[in-house]
Amino acid sequence: MLQESDLLLRLKSYDPTADEELLARAYRFSQKAHGDQVRASGEPYFSHPLEVASILLDLKLDCFSIITALLHDTVEDTLATLEEIKIQFGPEIARLVDGVTKLSRLELQSEATKQAENFQKLVLAMSSDIRVLLLKLADRVHNMRTLHHINDDSKCRRIARETMEIYAPLAERMGMHSLKDELEDLAFATLNAEMHQSIKTRLNFLREASEDAIGFILEDLRRVLGEVGIKGTVNGRLKTPYSIWRKMQQKSITFEQLSDIMAFRIVVEEVPECYQVLGIIHSHYLVVPGRFKDYISTPKPNNYQSLHTGVIGPLNQRIEAQIRTKDMNQISELGVAAHWQYKRGVRIHDGKQYAWLRSLLEILEQASSPEEFLEHTKLEMFQDQVFCFTPKGELISLPKGATPIDFAYAIHSEVGDRTVGAKINGRQMPLRTVLNNGDQVEISTYQHQCPSPTWERFVVTGKARARIRRFIRSQQRDQFKELGKSLLQKACMKEGVSYSEKAIGLAASYFQYALTDDLLAAIGEGIQSTREVIAVAYPNRQKKDPKASIAETELPKIAPKTEGNHPSLSIEGLIPGMAMHFAGCCHPLPGDKIRGIVVTGRGVTIHTFDCESLHSIDPDRLLDLSWHDDRNKSARHVGRLKVTFINKAGSLAAMSTAITKHQGNIVNLKVINRTVDFWDLIVDVEVKDLEHLIHIKTVLRSLAIIHNADRI
Ligand code: MN
Repeated sequence: MLQESDLLLRLKSYDPTADEELLARAYRFSQKAHGDQVRASGEPYFSHPLEVASILLDLKLDCFSIITALLHDTVEDTLATLEEIKIQFGPEIARLVDGVTKLSRLELQSEATKQAENFQKLVLAMSSDIRVLLLKLADRVHNMRTLHHINDDSKCRRIARETMEIYAPLAERMGMHSLKDELEDLAFATLNAEMHQSIKTRLNFLREASEDAIGFILEDLRRVLGEVGIKGTVNGRLKTPYSIWRKMQQKSITFEQLSDIMAFRIVVEEVPECYQVLGIIHSHYLVVPGRFKDYISTPKPNNYQSLHTGVIGPLNQRIEAQIRTKDMNQISELGVAAHWQYKRGVRIHDGKQYAWLRSLLEILEQASSPEEFLEHTKLEMFQDQVFCFTPKGELISLPKGATPIDFAYAIHSEVGDRTVGAKINGRQMPLRTVLNNGDQVEISTYQHQCPSPTWERFVVTGKARARIRRFIRSQQRDQFKELGKSLLQKACMKEGVSYSEKAIGLAASYFQYALTDDLLAAIGEGIQSTREVIAVAYPNRQKKDPKASIAETELPKIAPKTEGNHPSLSIEGLIPGMAMHFAGCCHPLPGDKIRGIVVTGRGVTIHTFDCESLHSIDPDRLLDLSWHDDRNKSARHVGRLKVTFINKAGSLAAMSTAITKHQGNIVNLKVINRTVDFWDLIVDVEVKDLEHLIHIKTVLRSLAIIHNADRI
């Protein structure tokens, strides 16, 4: 078992400023907390956090990560609490431990929850601090190394599958190739033991047979490089069983047909040397066509850089050679962890964590190659997601196509409801803007803002849509409630009873409505008849003489609200049930191009498309509308004309006669300017549609007394 002094020595070797005392305390804390717990292998449990710490030490992670590794299972598996850890080790370590604990709990439930969901949460957890994820990977590596001690076969398979589908791809995305290779191979050994064993046996056989071959080729490569005076290290290895199996699968070839099971890596100091080495290799050996790849000039999305080439080696075997610099090699092995290391005692992530995460997300966004991508189909879910940040750097993951409104609702329903504007990467943008990966989104809210029904047309998340609909419904309900109340009041008058909240309340409970308002809304919606309600509410009412009641209950005329001629039915694109009215400024008519403005609490106001009053309106509040083709053609609409006529006796009468004769109905008339010669009038005319109004306008213009007539 690793001793405290070993840990410290290794940490100090790359981070001389590490907090020795804190590390020692964590070591003792964990050792004591785990006490005599044992692993499935029979080893003391404490060996596990030590091994995890050791893996992170290989990655040269910072002191806090190492301490977190030591403590990572204490909250979940021992009596220790997060509070204790916070007191003893400070808030940052407590936060890291908490992150790992939460991830572990997620794993426990993963049989029940969908893995996809699991995965998303994982990515989310990663956002709080990437070190949580690095630690989780290390934890998984050690658990996979010791998986064979677990007797429960289905449990083993579950863990292995999770490793293959979630952790190995994540390690790869983060550029940590050595961890990825190990995780994949260990998972493969569990999931497909037979195949793994068979490949391993053949590889062993080959290793024995080619021990000399590798040695010989290494020798040869070193000699060739030496001749031109390039200093570099040359390594050779056999590929892992899993990578061989995958290649066999992808290319549907047999083991015998596999050519390059040997890979050689040449690591040099400078980039120009890489190309020099390439030239030397190509001139010494026969080049296998189509195998050369230059990932130095075009790095893989996870920042992997290297030259790859295939040649026929000195023993007539195909070999793969990878040529890269020391820096590139480090990045290829450590991936993101390379960014997390101490360099000259400075924590390079300080202050840059945010930009950093963005670049990670860019990596996640792109597939390194279509082949690799398809191999890990589980990662496809990244394709339909975008990851955005709050100004504080908190990560919000959304489906592709999401807008600031979705973002706002993802933060909190209340935030969504009150959104008035959004800044994307510091710039004020329309609320319907589609968000991109890495966008920083700042939502501005206003306390009295309500969701706009127009939002429903561009949001993509279910949460946002549900909230907006709910709001529209509640608004609709208010309208139904008002309508129901006026219908009931009218009916009461007809029946000769006085409307009383108390009586109606009794009827509401009789009909099993929770609230009186529910009853009123039901009446307004036409679900409940007023006659039934009155019969229940006023059981003792006297039937009046119908003749007498008419006089008594005469009401101001209410516009008939029958389905057939409700104006909203003649317009397409409205939100069902929303109140609507035509704007007084432009008097839109059927035939006009129209748009609507949503006014919170008041419904939709319909304007002509080019109405000037729309120019200053936020486009998010505008609805594109059109007239229904099969609208009720007998419905009348008001159009407004400005008419200038000659001040002469009988002019007004002539105009009015002309309008009436052509089926127009003057509903309003106002003199706006009067001179000795001319009168300017505003005339509101009820017409069928735009065509009708134009017809009337033309008729008026043709009259001798009319100087001009124009629509306004
Ligand atoms: Mn663990």
